[in-house]
Amino acid sequence: MTQPTRTVPPSPIGAPPVPLVDLGIQRDRIADEVAEGFARVLAATAFIQGPDVSAFEEEFASYTRRAFSVGLGNGTDALEFALRAAGVGTGDRVALPANTFVATAEAVLRAGAEPVLVDVDDEHLLLDPDALGEVAATCRAVLPVHLFGQMAPMDRIRDVAERHGLIVVEDAAQAQGATHRGVPIGGWGAAAGTSFYPGKNLGAFGDAGGVVTDDAEVARRVRLLANHGSEVKYQHPVLGFNSRLDTLQAVVLRAKLARLDAWNEERRAAARRYAELLADVPEVRLPSVADGNEHVWHLYVVRVARRDTVLAELNAAGIGAGIHYPVPVHHTGAFAGSGYERGDFPVTERAAGEILSLPLFPGITAGQQERVADALRAAVRRDA
Ligand SMILES: *Cc1c(COP(=O)(O)O)cnc(C)c1O
Repeated sequence: MTQPTRTVPPSPIGAPPVPLVDLGIQRDRIADEVAEGFARVLAATAFIQGPDVSAFEEEFASYTRRAFSVGLGNGTDALEFALRAAGVGTGDRVALPANTFVATAEAVLRAGAEPVLVDVDDEHLLLDPDALGEVAATCRAVLPVHLFGQMAPMDRIRDVAERHGLIVVEDAAQAQGATHRGVPIGGWGAAAGTSFYPGKNLGAFGDAGGVVTDDAEVARRVRLLANHGSEVKYQHPVLGFNSRLDTLQAVVLRAKLARLDAWNEERRAAARRYAELLADVPEVRLPSVADGNEHVWHLYVVRVARRDTVLAELNAAGIGAGIHYPVPVHHTGAFAGSGYERGDFPVTERAAGEILSLPLFPGITAGQQERVADALRAAVRRDA
C-alpha cells in the first residue's frame, strides 16, 4: 500500500511556537529584585565573594536542610570537587549510571578516577541498585544521578554502598527541591553536587553550581579546591582551581530560591496536566514517579516509537520538544577509548532511541500544553 504524502500538521493560525523552556518568564518575575541586587553589588564593587555569596550559601544550606553549602562556578566542578573532597582520587573506580548527561562522567575522570557505568531501570531510567550491586565490590564510590527531577532510589543505593563501603556523592543537578523518603539532596552520603545552569530548576543568569554536605571537612576541602587551594590569602597548601560562585549570580539565585517551591509546584501541576491530556494516547509512554519520591519535573520525558520522526513533526509544528540525551555516555567520542561497547547497557541504549522531552517550565499555560498534546497525538498516529 502506498503511504500518503507526509504533511506537516496544521498549527492553529497564528499560534506562536511553544518553546521547550521559557526562561523569560522567570526573568520577568524576579526583575525588580535582581535590578536592586545588581545595583547593590555594583555600588559596593563586591564582584568576588561579596556578601550575597555567603547569604545564598546559607539560604541554600537551610533549604536543603544541610549543615554546609559552598557556591561554585558550575555543576561539573561541583561534582569533581565533591568527589575529591570526599576522598575519591587517582585510580579509584566510581560507579555512575550510563544514562546521564556527559558531565557526570567528566567529573569522575577529572577527579583522577575511572568511570564504571551501570545500567538504569526501565521504568524510571534511574541507576539500578541491582546493577550497582554487580560492580560495587570493585568500586570506591558511587555517583547516582537524580535524573529529570526525581531522586535515584537512594535507600536501596545506600544499602549497597554500606555493604561494600562505598563513598556516596549525589549528582543533584536536576533535582533542586526533590526528596526521597522525605530527605532532600545531600542527605544520603558524603555530599551532593548541583548545577545552577540557567535551565535547571534553580538556574542563574550564567554558569554556577554548588555542593551541599553535612560534613564540615568535606565543605572545607571543596572551598579550598574552588579558591586556588587557599583559605588564607597567598597561602596555598594544596593545588586548587578557580571556581567561585559569582556574586551577581548569587543575587539571581537568592531571588529564585525564594520562589523555587512555588515554581516546582507549577511544574508538578503541568506534569499532572500532561498526564491527563495524554491519558487516551497509549502510543505515548508517560513518565512516572518512583516509590518514595517527591518529583520536581526538571524535564517531562515520554517515550514513543519512531521517535526521530515524531520529534521532527513536533518541531515542524512549532513545538520545541528535545532529547535528553540522544547519545549514551559510552557512545560519545570522548569515551570511545573506555572499553565499553554497543549493547553493554541495553536499557539505556533502547531508551536513547525512544525518549522525548516535552515543553515544561513554570508559567507554561494550559493552552500551550494542549497544543503540545494535540501535536503529539497526531504525530504518533500518522503512518503508524
Ligand atoms: C547540568 C548537569 C551537570 C553539569 O552542570 P554544569 O553546571 O553544566 O557544569 C551535571 N550533571 C547533570 C545530570 C546535569 O544535568
